Amino acid sequence: MRLGAAGAVTLGLAACGPDKPTASGSTGAPAGPTAAPPSPSPSASPSPTPAAASALKQQKKAIHTLHEYVEFVPGAQPFPSNAIALTIDDGPTPAWTPKVLALLEKLDIKATFCHIGVQDKGHKALAKSVVSEGHHLANHTYSHPLSLPKLNAATIHKEINDAQASIVDATGFTPHLFRSPGGAWSAEVFKQAAANGMAAIDWEIDPKDWSRPGTELIRLRMLKAKPGDIILCHDGGGDRSQTYDALKAVLPVLKSKGYQFVTLPAPPATGDNTTP
Ligand SMILES: [Zn+2]
Repeated sequence: MRLGAAGAVTLGLAACGPDKPTASGSTGAPAGPTAAPPSPSPSASPSPTPAAASALKQQKKAIHTLHEYVEFVPGAQPFPSNAIALTIDDGPTPAWTPKVLALLEKLDIKATFCHIGVQDKGHKALAKSVVSEGHHLANHTYSHPLSLPKLNAATIHKEINDAQASIVDATGFTPHLFRSPGGAWSAEVFKQAAANGMAAIDWEIDPKDWSRPGTELIRLRMLKAKPGDIILCHDGGGDRSQTYDALKAVLPVLKSKGYQFVTLPAPPATGDNTTP
């Protein structure tokens, strides 16, 4: 695929590691023009039903496993007993996302990519290719501030809503999942994710690939994944060669164990999030 280099986004941001220092942070700009809790997107996707919104508001911890996904997300159907979910954060990036997409296509694996809004804005074609190849997207804020819970409510609102707008504009896909950078949460972050019809998700398996501990260590950590787990890794935030090499080694092994890779579908209550 051909991606315009013009407007390439260089965030210099840190990946999801909770131990990383705070990234450059948000703009600190005031809340967007929509003060009231908006619908999930300007697209045709319906707003959450009262029941769904109510259930999402009750979420006080992020989802770590597929079992918790079914437990927390209203209307979510149980996954197969051998299901496992791969989530890939901080993209899209021209250097690594195409390589990861090619690998997933070769292995016939669908994943959930947690996109940073400014990356989608700078790489629209690449962002869209992730969806067109059958993967799902989650909202991972606009500028990836690792200090999101410490920001004021208006800035949190802007981070979530600007990301949603960028992702929808680039891809036509309305995320129904939100992952806070570094897995850092607060009551306000949960509240605003729910107000946007998004469930809060973390992970169960963290290979800490963002810290570049070496391919072998990433591989061994990922191999601990078992059915029902949500796995974290990255296609953004810098050199992801170790992540990519580990995925090449690990994914076939997990498939050989009979694990079925699943995405996290929109619950029936919030409709089909894939819009034209
Ligand atoms: Zn991240």
